[in-house]
Amino acid sequence: MALCGCGRDSITADRRRFLTWAALGGGAALLGAGAPGRAWGAAKANYFLLNCIDYRLTAATTRYMGQRGLTGDYDQLILAGASIGVVTDRQPDWAATFWQTLDLARQLHGVSHLIVLEHRDCGAYALVLGEDFAKHPAAETRIHAEMTGKLAGLLRQRHPKISFEAQLMALDGTVERLSAA
Ligand SMILES: [Zn+2]
Repeated sequence: MALCGCGRDSITADRRRFLTWAALGGGAALLGAGAPGRAWGAAKANYFLLNCIDYRLTAATTRYMGQRGLTGDYDQLILAGASIGVVTDRQPDWAATFWQTLDLARQLHGVSHLIVLEHRDCGAYALVLGEDFAKHPAAETRIHAEMTGKLAGLLRQRHPKISFEAQLMALDGTVERLSAA
């Protein structure tokens, strides 16, 4: 039975799109093996942005990247909680998605710098840690520094050549840099 009521054609189209994507990834891997450090084709982006799904900060996130002059120079993965979505044991599929996507971005576009953009009053943090940090800004900053620090450690093991930075956005869109805990 079709899940979406849109029938077999749609499933076939989805499968075709997946195969195209897989072929692209496979091609990039082969090219990468022959030409280390080269991005696939002419496409090039230096940055990879990981940020949270929170709808309140979608526009502010795009604005922030633009203010840094990075428009058109970054790939982006949106994952609930940003770093905690990757480092928590509760969502191993999310971590796998993050690492696979980062690998692909590196192969396709040659990304060499990871920006993790956390935010205050994050529901994913409250959900995973069972604690609402929004009322305690100093503790909130510390816990974001701790989680992004864990992610930085994992990145060093997996991709020592990719540089790392962590930022924390307030609900008014202002951003402060996090230092590793
Ligand atoms: Zn969030």
